[in-house]
Amino acid sequence: MYVKVLVELSAFNIDKMFTYHVPNEYINDIKIGIRVLVPFNNQELEGFILEIDNDYEDPFDIKDIIKVIDSEVILNDELLSLGKKISHGTLSTLISSYQVMLPKSLKAKNKSKVGIKYQQIVEIDNLNIDLTDKQQEIINKINEKGRCLYSELKKINSSVDTLLKKGVLRKIEVEEYRLNIDNNYQYVKHALNSDQEKVFNEIKNNLGNNKHFLLHGITGSGKTEVYMELMEEVIKNNKKCLLLVPEITLTNQIAKRIMARFKRVAILHSGLSDGEKYDEYRKIKRGEADIVIGARSAVFAPLSDIGIIIIDECHTSSYYQDVMPRYDAVEVAKERCLYHSCPLVLGTATPTIDMYARATKNIYQLLTLDKRAGDAIPPKVIISDMTKEKKVGDTFFSETLVNKIKEKLEHHEQVILLQNRRGYSSTIMCTNCGYTMKCPNCDITLTYHKNKDIMRCHYCGYATKKMIKCPKCDSKDIKELGLGTEKVEEDLHKLFNEARIVRMDYDTTSKKGSHEKILNAFGNYEYDILLGTQMIAKGLDFDKVTLVGVISCDNSLFMPSYKSSEDTYNLLNQVSGRSGRRSIQGEVIIQTYNPDHYAIELSSKNDYLSFYNREMEERREGKYPPYYYLSEVIIKSVDYEFLSREVNKIKTLLINKLPDKIIIGPMMLYPFKVNNVNRFGIIIKYKKELDLKEILKGLIDHYKANSKIKIEVSFNPRDI
Ligand code: ADP
Ligand code: ZN
Ligand code: ZN
Repeated sequence: MYVKVLVELSAFNIDKMFTYHVPNEYINDIKIGIRVLVPFNNQELEGFILEIDNDYEDPFDIKDIIKVIDSEVILNDELLSLGKKISHGTLSTLISSYQVMLPKSLKAKNKSKVGIKYQQIVEIDNLNIDLTDKQQEIINKINEKGRCLYSELKKINSSVDTLLKKGVLRKIEVEEYRLNIDNNYQYVKHALNSDQEKVFNEIKNNLGNNKHFLLHGITGSGKTEVYMELMEEVIKNNKKCLLLVPEITLTNQIAKRIMARFKRVAILHSGLSDGEKYDEYRKIKRGEADIVIGARSAVFAPLSDIGIIIIDECHTSSYYQDVMPRYDAVEVAKERCLYHSCPLVLGTATPTIDMYARATKNIYQLLTLDKRAGDAIPPKVIISDMTKEKKVGDTFFSETLVNKIKEKLEHHEQVILLQNRRGYSSTIMCTNCGYTMKCPNCDITLTYHKNKDIMRCHYCGYATKKMIKCPKCDSKDIKELGLGTEKVEEDLHKLFNEARIVRMDYDTTSKKGSHEKILNAFGNYEYDILLGTQMIAKGLDFDKVTLVGVISCDNSLFMPSYKSSEDTYNLLNQVSGRSGRRSIQGEVIIQTYNPDHYAIELSSKNDYLSFYNREMEERREGKYPPYYYLSEVIIKSVDYEFLSREVNKIKTLLINKLPDKIIIGPMMLYPFKVNNVNRFGIIIKYKKELDLKEILKGLIDHYKANSKIKIEVSFNPRDI
């Protein structure tokens, strides 16, 4: 018997199966989709068996496999074919497409040896001796509970060891799942209101159909409540539910709510330890979880009978993985729903322009929830016009915002402040009139590069000198935008020296569990003000928060992206949703130098439809999605000279081979150098894909043997 084994040789861009001979002792253990250890050059590598071949043509010089690793199949038929589709659809290596589906402990070539964790349990074996009082105490305890943890009994007294020795008790080992979520969520089941009922029925009537729904429901409209009703229905039909949530913090919050109602729930996200992940994964595979909740890669959860996939906050760009394999979890979910013949529900308060456009064309069935479900009323949004407002002292706070915060603190209510600063470099803005510099070719805000003191377009590479005087109003009040949370925290302490302030951003949440800690403390009213980056914007639900302040949203408005308006609209909408979740009406104050920008104005009115229509016009004029597809070729090398030459050759080649498409670039990606690897991007805009994939595949194959250069493609990335 021979097998074809796929191994990981990522350093070489090699994606090939190698044939091995199976020695007789292993023949009965061989299955497609398990891992085996094989010799390769002078190493031993793990790989997946993808094919079995009983009579290999050329049986000379074929090496034996060293051993079989798994007794159970890791990649079942569905995942095997899904991996092929992803590899083909994203032009990624097949091995990377399989590896991304698996927890570390089940990937090929893992170094970490995570195993099953056992618990020691004690039970009564036979009771044929006279017991001392202390021994009786142990026996009573076991009788009370049936079985006890050895460690627990040992705490009562040490006679448990004597009883074990005498054979009265016996110790057994049972598998233990490591993940333990401390859940104090009090679940109150609500009867659905009539709007929710309508949405629920529409989807319920399509359980068993491969239909795609876009659930456009404002924050607090009761989407999660509808999800749970649907889950109950699916579980009744003996099927399983998959719920994707954008990130770890949210996964935990929503998981607690769902676990308070349903028992058999598994969690998968990158914040879990390898051991916890391994356990949750096995739980799912064994059919012990009715509901799987997780972040992007949970879309690969090894469920064998999916009845519904729900993707919450489906507009979030983290559903797109921007390293190989560059896949979109929504697209993968569609494949899985097709395989399982079940519905896909995309839920959000702010659909991407793309998604909404599909809904208007009935590619997705649109369902709407436009009222808040509970007794909460939508917040009052005030735009604080920074071109007119007085700032307090040397801070970034307007008088309006400062006074409002004071008022809330006096009433013992809580405040959330958002300072949206992403890990990008910033732009330069006139603080008198709000003018920013745009690229003449792309209509995209130029990015300020401090080290060279120039302004650069991240789309086409256009560069120009930094402005020192505003061309619009002549003011010399030119400032670098992008002020970090730390400075804001300082300001806050100055302005409100009595207030209890907690900051949540990338720096304060790097430790495992620190997210949760901060949020729990804030939820327990240990703080008055929560200050953070966009990681605080989503999903959080606190009773006492009645004011949300946005320190500045101009930064987000002028991100060098065609999606900056969409992103700003979404961000403001999300963050506003945090205010007044209960019966007191919440308030939102948005500080901006661009009060008339349509994204800000329309989000303050919560008018998605007008925003969508306006933004569609912009997209049509700029030839951006959904009117055009946008994909990117990413070219990387350590050798800068060599790379520059090749990048230009590649551009010429693309122009020649893709005459119907618009080729933009090459431009430096930001950050340009990562781990000493220089990175260029070439953007391809097109209406029809046609032979694009074949041509790009040819390009990748052409450079495959050259280890100095690496080419990857991002098809329809969420951020570009
Ligand atoms: P979303 O997921 O759309 O933000 P949620 O499902 O979290 O909305 O609901 C928002 C709030 O309204 C929650 O506190 C929830 O318990 C409550 N709620 C949801 N549905 C109902 C209902 N039918 N009746 C009363 N309260 C509801
Ligand atoms: Zn100006
Ligand atoms: Zn440009």
